[in-house]
Amino acid sequence: MLGVADRLARRWPAPMAELALGAGAWLRARLREGRAFRRLSAELARTEQLSATDLEAWQSAHLRAIVRHAYAHTVYYRELFDSRGIRPADIRTAADLAQLPILTKADLRERPDDFRARRGHGWPVFVDGTSGTSGTPLRVRRDLAAIVHEHAHVARQLRWAGWRPGQRRAWLRGDLFLPIEQSRPPFWRRERGRALLKLSSYHLKEAHLAGYLDALRRFRPSLLQAYPSSAAWLARGLLQRGDSPLPLQAVVTSSETLRADQRTDIERAFQCPVFDWYGTFERVAAIGTCDRGGRHVVSDYGLTELVPDAATGTHRIVGTSWANRAWVLLRYDAGDRVDPHGLPCPCGRAFPTVGEIQGRQDDVVITADGRRVGRLDHVFKSAERLREAQIVQRRPGEVILRFVPEAGFTVKDRERLESAAIERLGPETRIACEAVSTLERGPRGKLQLVVSELSSEERGGIAQHVDQEIRR
Ligand SMILES: [Zn+2]
Repeated sequence: MLGVADRLARRWPAPMAELALGAGAWLRARLREGRAFRRLSAELARTEQLSATDLEAWQSAHLRAIVRHAYAHTVYYRELFDSRGIRPADIRTAADLAQLPILTKADLRERPDDFRARRGHGWPVFVDGTSGTSGTPLRVRRDLAAIVHEHAHVARQLRWAGWRPGQRRAWLRGDLFLPIEQSRPPFWRRERGRALLKLSSYHLKEAHLAGYLDALRRFRPSLLQAYPSSAAWLARGLLQRGDSPLPLQAVVTSSETLRADQRTDIERAFQCPVFDWYGTFERVAAIGTCDRGGRHVVSDYGLTELVPDAATGTHRIVGTSWANRAWVLLRYDAGDRVDPHGLPCPCGRAFPTVGEIQGRQDDVVITADGRRVGRLDHVFKSAERLREAQIVQRRPGEVILRFVPEAGFTVKDRERLESAAIERLGPETRIACEAVSTLERGPRGKLQLVVSELSSEERGGIAQHVDQEIRR
């Protein structure tokens, strides 16, 4: 329903498109920023100051309520509890959750309707589909309270980044509000009434770079909300042109894994800190960046477990959300990995800190010797004169490093890139380089680090093989 404004804006000329976007924004604000939002925001200002003990008690109360609701109103949890002889009252604290199995995306795909609550949720209920980069798309149901919950948490993240309502914001994310074939600027629109400049992440081409930077300079936002890849593309372009920096108060990134090299470029070009927000499409867990720069599990968002994964030596992000009563997920494996060892943060919040978010579990390639290798962002870590890059795999044991070179890119740079890839993928893996002028954005305008065209059998079969190797 809320995509209507974007759809109209794609068809209409700029002034009318801006009216449509403004109307869409007004409607969204009416839905998401009402009394429930204000109440929850006030609550979150309080819970972020709770002691560890009080926070645990607060979480447990929410957990007990959602467990009771799940048992009473969903087919899946009624069956699960009954078949295992668990009573809702047996699950009182985070530790008790271990009685339940970890839920995977495959479980959800198998019987999506059984997680839907028959009663006891709020209205209206919105249905949204995943981008479906691998396999069948997942349809997620959320009631209005769940949407308000998300919105209040993101609003607090913006506050941690120093932004205050009324200040100008620029937005460079996945909204498709321009025709994809448009070849002339402007590739941005003002959202009337919200002091927001929306920039398209589908038109990031070298020829349009100066226009994007100019639009930002003229708008003078204090905050930029963007995909890491889009913000880094702008930042790198600005630095490469040798322009003077474009100072902002903060950049808030989300929806893709933020790489260290992207962070450095964004901070240099925009002369401000980056606040990364990790969320999930299924809305089960969040990791935010506080005002002191600490990376915290957002403990008043849901119950987040970091579960060691023996097969890969990393930790999985497993979340239980109490915010969405329309579609209940307990102990859901979000499919992302994180380093659980965080630095202590001086902010004093009881929210635990974590290390780097290591990205999607499916961001892997299969090497010639059958290994399943992730964390491929390292291949590009020390690369120079690269605007952006990704890895394409069409057959096991073969990869293509596809990249957008900057002026001055030499054979040496290319060799360095190849050897960084060989270091991780082994000398038998065939590596080809492909320089292009633009990298295609995937669904929702995101830039995928790994584009894998392997069948799930090719990926899954080999993963099993690796598991056995490790067990031996
Ligand atoms: Zn902190």
